[in-house]
Amino acid sequence: MEKLIALCKRRGFIYPGSEIYGGVANTYDYGPMGVELLRNLQNLWWVNFVEKREDMVGLDASIISHHKIWEASGHVATFADAMIDCRNCRHRMRADHLLEDSLNKNVEGMPLVELESLLNENKVVCPVCGEFDWTPIRKFNQLFGVELGLVQGDDAKAYLRGETAQGMFVNFKNIIDSTRIRLPFGVAQLGKSFRNEITPGNSVFRTLEFVQGEIEYFFDPESTKWEKLFADWQEEMWEFVVNKLKISENDLRWREHTEKERSFYSKKTVDLEYNFPFGFKELWGLAYRTDYDLHQQQEYSRKDLSYIDPQTGKKFLPHVIEPALGITRSILMILSNAYTEDDKRVFLKIAPSLAPVKVAVFPLLHNKPELIETAREVYNDLQNNINGKIIWDDRGNIGKRYLAQDEIGTPWCITVDFQSLEDGMVTVRNRDTTQQDRIKIEDLTSHFNRLLITI
Ligand code: ATP
Repeated sequence: MEKLIALCKRRGFIYPGSEIYGGVANTYDYGPMGVELLRNLQNLWWVNFVEKREDMVGLDASIISHHKIWEASGHVATFADAMIDCRNCRHRMRADHLLEDSLNKNVEGMPLVELESLLNENKVVCPVCGEFDWTPIRKFNQLFGVELGLVQGDDAKAYLRGETAQGMFVNFKNIIDSTRIRLPFGVAQLGKSFRNEITPGNSVFRTLEFVQGEIEYFFDPESTKWEKLFADWQEEMWEFVVNKLKISENDLRWREHTEKERSFYSKKTVDLEYNFPFGFKELWGLAYRTDYDLHQQQEYSRKDLSYIDPQTGKKFLPHVIEPALGITRSILMILSNAYTEDDKRVFLKIAPSLAPVKVAVFPLLHNKPELIETAREVYNDLQNNINGKIIWDDRGNIGKRYLAQDEIGTPWCITVDFQSLEDGMVTVRNRDTTQQDRIKIEDLTSHFNRLLITI
């Protein structure tokens, strides 16, 4: 994990947030490579789940949202973590994480009193100073409240959204009325969510501000079997992570929520977990939430959110299945899955479709105008005909340039040498095998475009 974090900083993927002022814990900035990776991941998700599907539409709801949305959803009352402080060293942490890590036991959904007795029975000490001197465990609400400047009284209170999901429920009627989509269908949204997380996380695994990719898939429970829909979504999620993100199957597993940890309105919840450097943890949740959210938003807003079946005239609140992915958490998964070291080098084995840079172009020497001219032509041609970033590099020796590209996961590097001026061919070096092939300049575009689609 330390090596990966150092590489992320060194090569411009992830920087600590507000660093020059000493930082704000649990916030991160995405650098020139990180932002490309993030955009590529979001595009892949959007193309896969929205663009290429007849039964899906997109949404981009406001981050600042009415306080009633979060009262209706239950977040104001219950979206809270169990917090505990060490009286000796003042270390603050989540009590459930403390117990899970020290006792190796799943305590999700356990009431405060039970957590408290588990802590005391097992005399769990502070992981920082080793003392057993805790404050009582208490609830800490995770929502970020904001004060609107232009309104007064109750209406001045708003929240930064704690999840993207509620935007889909409060716009359900708008979407039905403004499109021709009919059940069953899904609404997808990509965007930032905000949570006052207690535990400083492992890099971007758990942050105050993070990107989610959520889908609410609406259906009529009388005509669509939820068990089948749920199983289909599980298959789609697995397929996306394994075949599109190229994550190794050995590092993935499903975990079903126990009766105790599952929300009372959910009939079934499973997490797709990834084997992060610090163990298997949730990446993507899948929950059958019945009609709970639409029902709540309807009740609090006093607006009719029901759906009328155009064929039968039946009026009802649809049920939903919700696949909720952590996009920024996936960035950490992609990077740790890609990080590879051998005796000669460090390289990131990122899927070409996700790689921040697709191809790097080098003239063998920077001071030979004839090499520069041909290399520039190759570079411009790729810039114009390949989707994604192409990099030019003429500094230092070729070995150093390869090293820099390997560490940002560029799948292919092209070198234009003196031979190229005679035979119109260039050397293409493969990141993973370091194998070098000679390819005709005129074939480069189709060669890379084919590879970008197939691998
Ligand atoms: P966790 O148990 O890890 O706190 P959660 O069950 O509260 O997650 P959901 O509300 O289901 O998470 O959110 C869906 C996804 O959003 C999660 O699977 C995770 O990938 C991501 N996510 C949730 N909280 C954070 C966070 N603070 N930072 C980064 N990603 C997050």
